[in-house]
Amino acid sequence: MAEDAERPETVDEEEPTSEDADEASVEEEPKERKKRGIPKIKNPLGLIFNLRMLRRVVQILFLLGINGYIFAAWWGADAITHFWESFRDILPTIPIIAPLEAPFGVIAGSFDTMQRELTSGTFPFFTLGAMIIILTVLGRVACGWICPIGTLQDFATLPNRTKIRPAPNTEKEMRRVKAYVFALVIFLAAWMGISRLTGTAEELERVLGMFADAPFDPFNPAYILFVVLPDQVWPTSIDTLWYLSVWPMTVWLQVAFVLIIVIIAFWFPRWFCRWICPAGWFYGIFSRDALIGIGRNPARCTPDTCNVCEVVCPMNIQIRKFPYDHMYSADCILCLECKSYCPNKAIEIRFS
Ligand code: SF4
Ligand code: SF4
Repeated sequence: MAEDAERPETVDEEEPTSEDADEASVEEEPKERKKRGIPKIKNPLGLIFNLRMLRRVVQILFLLGINGYIFAAWWGADAITHFWESFRDILPTIPIIAPLEAPFGVIAGSFDTMQRELTSGTFPFFTLGAMIIILTVLGRVACGWICPIGTLQDFATLPNRTKIRPAPNTEKEMRRVKAYVFALVIFLAAWMGISRLTGTAEELERVLGMFADAPFDPFNPAYILFVVLPDQVWPTSIDTLWYLSVWPMTVWLQVAFVLIIVIIAFWFPRWFCRWICPAGWFYGIFSRDALIGIGRNPARCTPDTCNVCEVVCPMNIQIRKFPYDHMYSADCILCLECKSYCPNKAIEIRFS
């Protein structure tokens, strides 16, 4: 059960109205332009400087910045190294997925850090506290603008204008998966932590193997990209291409998993965030009633005849079902795609 959704062409191009048509005849627009039906663009700079473009730029900067230390490693310059190391010393945790032990990482994800703390037998007071403050004020804005795995999916989706939107019931069922993944991960992490505290962890460590220190990591695309891959021997020339053959089979399977995430995102925007990511599910608990959120202006919104906001929403949220004043959805990542595309400019950012 799926319906295809056609994405509108651009944000700033406006459908010509009858008013525009009148204007055009008065100003005698070039016949060629009228014949080809090229819409009037009120602000050509808006094609470049707009909210969507801003988000893409921020996403790319963070994708590079999260692993900023890699530049220091490449250039080997002491000043740059110290600059990035100063970030690593503070190592802020933010509600995204970014592994704590990435060799080039300067920022860690709250969920990743929480798992490590639990499995080592520590309750993550500080990580949880910081995470809850960020989420209750800003909502899941970090998912929409910073998380590297969200970014990869968004860019994979970008070239495809026809997305597949599962029917609401299917979507609802699929969203449950991430809650089950979360429960399993936290159960294993807490069990491991208690075993370590009581000195009985040896057997459990042996059984859990690669899942022992952070149970979600083997399936965490951020961990695979930023920890597992940098840890492999990389070929530096044609002669050393055979290094790839010594990569363990588990690494190849993990790489295949990341590729699958990206490929599926071409048709299903942010499918990993919507259905699988346990961190996203946990963040949603606190972001639902966040201070900053999305609302609709009832004087402008025409929900009976328009569904553009829902069609463009990468999280497949049924925006029109929420009250006008504030959309309390645990799945909203404040990407503002709905705001960019709304033909009536009815979507507003609300502080309440
Ligand atoms: S839900 Fe998506 S954006 Fe949010 S932490 Fe998970 S992968 Fe990142
Ligand atoms: S409701 Fe709007 S801001 Fe929230 S995820 Fe959907 S498109 Fe993005």
